[in-house]
Amino acid sequence: MKHFFFIHRSYFPTTQSTVHSPQSAVMIKVKPEHLDEIRKHGEETYPHECCGFLIGEKDGETNVLRIVHRANNEWTKTDERESQANRYLITPEQARRAEMAAREQGLGVIGYYHSHPDHPAQPSGFDLDHSCWPTDSYIIVAVEKGRASVLNSFTKPDYEKFAPEEILLEEQP
Ligand SMILES: [Zn+2]
Repeated sequence: MKHFFFIHRSYFPTTQSTVHSPQSAVMIKVKPEHLDEIRKHGEETYPHECCGFLIGEKDGETNVLRIVHRANNEWTKTDERESQANRYLITPEQARRAEMAAREQGLGVIGYYHSHPDHPAQPSGFDLDHSCWPTDSYIIVAVEKGRASVLNSFTKPDYEKFAPEEILLEEQP
């Protein structure tokens, strides 16, 4: 799956120093309903890709997800090779609004999610080039024939490649 992704970051000062001393998030802590929201979004936009922001906070090397913030897929080109079925585009304006929404809650953008309609929940080469910073979480949900299936999270510890990221389910007390 190929995507264009514009990244606008300003909230976490640590992103400034990650080039020389990357600190990768080793896991993302979520509530079951967060994953339900991502799966639901992917099913709603099927056969197109859905996309959005993961808003939350950092707890050491753990990303703690608080809000699943939907984005619109603004990819416009449609031909036999490229369409919203295998591309997504998040505009800088959407990223700016998500950052603002996060900051209003005292949170930040800790990552991104998108769906792979009828394609495995594994990042593509283009995802690698247009995805996230080393401390971010990158969730991909596969949607097979309209039904959400496998959901994986990744991080990019050194910019060079994705590494699977553990998803820790935070159950209700
Ligand atoms: Zn993808």
